Amino acid sequence: MTVRVRFAPSPTGFLHVGGARTALFNWLYARGEGGVFLLRVEDTDRARSRPEHTQAILDGLDWLGLDLDEGPVFQAGGIDRHREDAYRLLEQGAAYRCFCTADELARRREEAKQAGSGYGYDGRCGRLDAATSGARAEAGEPFALRVRVPGEAIGWEDMIHGPMSFPAGSIDDFIVLRSDGTPVYNLAVVSDDAHARISHVVRGDDHISNTPKQILLYRALGAPLPAFGHVPLILGSDGKRLSKRHGAMSVLAYRDEGYLPEGMLNFLALLGWSPGDDRERFDVGGLVEAFSIDRVLRKSAVFDLDKLGWLNGRHIAASPPAVLAHPVIGILRAEAREAGLRLAETHPELEASADRLAAIIDLVKERPRTLPALARQVSPFFAASVRYEPDAVRRFWKRPAETAEHLRQLAARLAEEASFRDVETLEAEVRGVAARLGVGAGRVINPLRVALMGQAVSPGIFEVLGAMGRERVRARLEAAVRFLEVEAEAEAEAVTA
Ligand code: GLU
Repeated sequence: MTVRVRFAPSPTGFLHVGGARTALFNWLYARGEGGVFLLRVEDTDRARSRPEHTQAILDGLDWLGLDLDEGPVFQAGGIDRHREDAYRLLEQGAAYRCFCTADELARRREEAKQAGSGYGYDGRCGRLDAATSGARAEAGEPFALRVRVPGEAIGWEDMIHGPMSFPAGSIDDFIVLRSDGTPVYNLAVVSDDAHARISHVVRGDDHISNTPKQILLYRALGAPLPAFGHVPLILGSDGKRLSKRHGAMSVLAYRDEGYLPEGMLNFLALLGWSPGDDRERFDVGGLVEAFSIDRVLRKSAVFDLDKLGWLNGRHIAASPPAVLAHPVIGILRAEAREAGLRLAETHPELEASADRLAAIIDLVKERPRTLPALARQVSPFFAASVRYEPDAVRRFWKRPAETAEHLRQLAARLAEEASFRDVETLEAEVRGVAARLGVGAGRVINPLRVALMGQAVSPGIFEVLGAMGRERVRARLEAAVRFLEVEAEAEAEAVTA
């Protein structure tokens, strides 16, 4: 039997984290089993479905690399088949015409509520004899079609939760075709899944209550029953159902924030699935190999933005520099444009040598968690000048006059070509300056980092010095000293004022 799975989003919003994870689990299962992955857009809610949402879902899947074998198919396109299936149920006696009006049903529900008892459809139209039912329909009385639910427990072996069962009497006869002729959700899903010969239905836990009804429909339609697997919910760190409040966004928003598709996929896979050992970083091939549905956890997964950042950082570090160069250039170009400048003005030579850019990316890629953060680390190696991050200034340039003096001393030592012979020499020079000043190495290294990078973090400072080269280091130190002198003067004035 070929594994045939589907992802069946409703195009009423963007592809969010939960949907993307459901898509991923289906895709991984299909790829691991040599099966078929199909996309069905459940667009029967005409009022809420939007073509731009369908497009966003397609773009999201595309960005993540979850390629389709079939589809997209549109549920609304199957409405005639859904109706035919509903009428087949009527013909076979699995469904009956229900003439109860919405008002009557509402009144009975209200009465049940007053009486403090639960409401369930009492099956009265199911007891009409065939002739009466037919005659009333014939006379033009509107009716819905309702499925006759047998008085027995309905269960299945869930791929994730194990044995599941709904006791007899917990489901009342339910509508499959409304009196206006529109098919009900559960019928459309079963009709479509049966038609597409879906072998495994893997979807969110929120559909568990639909499953017994769908199983009844499969049986009544005489269609082979697929296996069902219900993936636990994703919760925010506060234990509440995941929402925007927890920092969860549409999948494409993560792309725009500079996450890599590999990082996002890896993160999504670990939301509720575990390989059973302590491996965390997976590339796509590794996921396909390691994934198995029965290792999807039964308890809900917790969305942890910090973990996404960490994993994404691991993927950035593991990416070849040539792959990262393109987005880095794009980010710096966009920044230049925002400032009304060209990239050649803000970052001369960034595009001059692919090898040099690759070497710098290799040097800095260990720490950044997103592409913009990576670009921020690459930038100082090519920038015409650096902007000092206020936070770094506050932390490491607290005493401007003294820091200016330390940087002047460093500048003097680092003016020598010989200091740049290798990283060891650079280290000896910098430490030598600290020793002569009688301060710990950190007291010169941290301010030096701010001068070179404009920020408080960087790779090892001696490697940074070597990669920047003598000329750029000299210019950076001069600029920093000038900045600090102005600060020192302002401070002196403030004291005398
Ligand atoms: N359209 C449903 C949803 O977006 C999924 C239905 C299903 O997977 O059976 O939640």
